[in-house]
Amino acid sequence: MKQLIASLITVAIAGAAHAEINFSKSVPSEQRKLLTRDMFFLANQPYPSDSKLAQMMEIPSTDGLTILNWIDNRMVRIVGEDFELEKNIAIVNQSFFPEPSETPSIPTVVNTPGGSSGGGKVQTVMSNLGGAVYISGKMSHVMFSLKVDDNKINITSPRLGVFKVGEGLFNTQLTKSPADSKMSTYFRLATLVHEARHSDGRGRSAGFLHAICPTGHRFAGYAGCDASSNGPYTIEGQFLKVAIQNCKDCQPGELEPEKTV
Ligand SMILES: [Zn+2]
Repeated sequence: MKQLIASLITVAIAGAAHAEINFSKSVPSEQRKLLTRDMFFLANQPYPSDSKLAQMMEIPSTDGLTILNWIDNRMVRIVGEDFELEKNIAIVNQSFFPEPSETPSIPTVVNTPGGSSGGGKVQTVMSNLGGAVYISGKMSHVMFSLKVDDNKINITSPRLGVFKVGEGLFNTQLTKSPADSKMSTYFRLATLVHEARHSDGRGRSAGFLHAICPTGHRFAGYAGCDASSNGPYTIEGQFLKVAIQNCKDCQPGELEPEKTV
């Protein structure tokens, strides 16, 4: 995604429809078009000023281009729903992380997506394979690589986010809005913000792994909650809340997805 910002700016100048963004071939063209359009929208719109979001993201201002840049720094590829981790992961170095280091504890998941919660099916919207593979490697002192199309990406940093599209990302039932609506656009952008957060953290907070939601929560038993006050769900929620509050074409309360990301 190194060229993402440059290409979006180029597109803005050229007025062309789509940017050359580094999607894997495994992302269907319709999905590429929508995601490119989403990022183009964020790059070119005056996202509201919000000090809380700026503080959480550690950015000077919350204009759209700065937020997009923040995402871009944490994402190297977007891969499609059909991308198979097991077939594309390989060990590059058996002793890459020789020093013992603090690593996060993996929550014991009680429920997995596909089950039901609050009367609806819980769907995976997106996942950050790069962040997860990095943590897994660090815990076992191994450097892994991920093969995306013809490129082998050595996962040497949590910042090398490889975001995998999930079944819910383009599900218009989750947003109750058409796929090309502003509501759906903000939903997908908020998801990118969420996944980008999984490329952050260090030591025990590496990857900002999810926590198991407590009894009584609508996602009780699912790994659908944050362990910290600036984790992926919190930062995604703040991004979406501020966006919708300031969006004339969005209806607050429309978005109540049954999902995990
Ligand atoms: Zn997540």
